[in-house]
Amino acid sequence: MFEYAPAPESRDIVDIKPSYGLFINGEWVEPQSEERHKTVNPATEEVLSEIVWAGEADVDRAVEAARKAFATWSAVPGSERAKYIFRIARIIQERSRELAVLESLDNGKPIRESRDVDLPLVAAHFFYYAGWADKLSYAGFGPDPRPLGVAGQVIPWNFPLLMLAWKIAPALACGNTVVLKPAETTPLTALAFAEICRQADLPPGVVNIVTGAGETGSALVRHPGVDKVAFTGSTEVGRLIARSVAGSRKKLTLELGGKAANIVFEDAAVDQAVEGIVNGIFFNQGHVCCAGSRLLVQESVAEEVLDALKRRLATLRMGDPLDKNTDIGAINSAAQLAKIRELSEAGESEGAERWSPPCPIPDRGFWFPPTVFTGVAQSHRIAREEIFGPVLSVLTFRTPAEAIEKANNTPYGLSAGVWTEKGSLMLWAASRLRAGVVWSNTFNRFDPASPFGGFKESGYGREGGRHGLEAYLAV
Ligand code: NAP
Ligand code: MG
Repeated sequence: MFEYAPAPESRDIVDIKPSYGLFINGEWVEPQSEERHKTVNPATEEVLSEIVWAGEADVDRAVEAARKAFATWSAVPGSERAKYIFRIARIIQERSRELAVLESLDNGKPIRESRDVDLPLVAAHFFYYAGWADKLSYAGFGPDPRPLGVAGQVIPWNFPLLMLAWKIAPALACGNTVVLKPAETTPLTALAFAEICRQADLPPGVVNIVTGAGETGSALVRHPGVDKVAFTGSTEVGRLIARSVAGSRKKLTLELGGKAANIVFEDAAVDQAVEGIVNGIFFNQGHVCCAGSRLLVQESVAEEVLDALKRRLATLRMGDPLDKNTDIGAINSAAQLAKIRELSEAGESEGAERWSPPCPIPDRGFWFPPTVFTGVAQSHRIAREEIFGPVLSVLTFRTPAEAIEKANNTPYGLSAGVWTEKGSLMLWAASRLRAGVVWSNTFNRFDPASPFGGFKESGYGREGGRHGLEAYLAV
């Protein structure tokens, strides 16, 4: 066996300030709130920077700036708005290596993923919505659809810059202004994005970034000056937000959790399916809302698929996120690691069998090895609850009808995967799965032109594609 030599990406390209203010009205402002917290590199626990936890007065100032900017920005012709958004997309491409390193440092995800998946998708999203800005009259929402006003947007830590792109690009294309709160553990790429808005000469107040914790997010979504709330995060917080917005004029979209089934039928190409299973649950340490966290494999091929899967998992490399050969990076926070451990222990105590490949764990930082549970029953917590980590629960089925029944037996409905060589079975299954996205013979594949969103407790509203415009227009 050849050993891999270390291949670290240099971090010299990023320039992280020791502390950041808030980005309001096109400027860095000193907050009224005196609360500051550190954001760390989860792979080493090294402190990267200090950020503000914005309070109500700060949120108020940001919403005020967005409200003022809305009057002019909404009157800018679509073809002009498009130029700004194109410019942002181009700057993201130009600075993509820097942003990828920054994302990996703050989030813990492997550089291979931030460089080859997150950043290209971020730029693509801005390019895509730039293209819509002057064509809104042809989007199917009437001859002259109007923007909503100020959008209050709250995003999670698993794809920090990509979730920002999903929220900001369509909002600006439609003529809205934005106040965005990134997650408390991953604020740095959103703060870098603030600089990009300045570089692109975006008019002041069109994009405002307020950092902080849950209370900051809560102050933002409750603010009476906000016309539209867009939230991506857990179902639990989504429920709180839906309650606080109920009865107001605010429009709401929620992109929440998931517990997707990845179904492997007996005629599937096994090696291809195994790659899809690995990509489905071990991509981004399993911190993926649409992760294929429940593998449903047909009994007749279960042993063959599991043997091949274990062989494949033994080749995954966990470690330094900045190393270009790393497959699995760090868990984003101590809190998330504790949650993954707790659910994995529940899996064992409820009777499922736990397996991980031999996998050296670094002494510092937050790490969890790729883990597979077999002998999982539908009633087990690991089959029902979102773990949001590199943990796969394996269940088996005998007939296609049983597979669909098990796949749909969840309160969630964000995504699903189907592996078969038969087109008819693929379509039969896809039309019966209660999930917003169904992938076939692939998994975790994204495109800005394709709408994404949930059924049931995975939320409502769509992001991406023409459908994604609807969330930001008065229709
Ligand atoms: P979370 O706890 O719900 O947090 C999401 C965001 O909301 C964070 O910015 C958080 O701030 C903020 N927040 C917390 N409490 C709030 C409140 N009461 N009011 C307003 N905002 C509040 O979720 P998470 O654990 O960070 O993220 C993981 C979850 O996101 C998973 O369930 C995953 O499935 C889901 N997700 C869904 C999608 C999708 O498209 N459907 C995509 C990605 C992730 P703090 O960071 O300070 O806590
Ligand atoms: Mg961090």
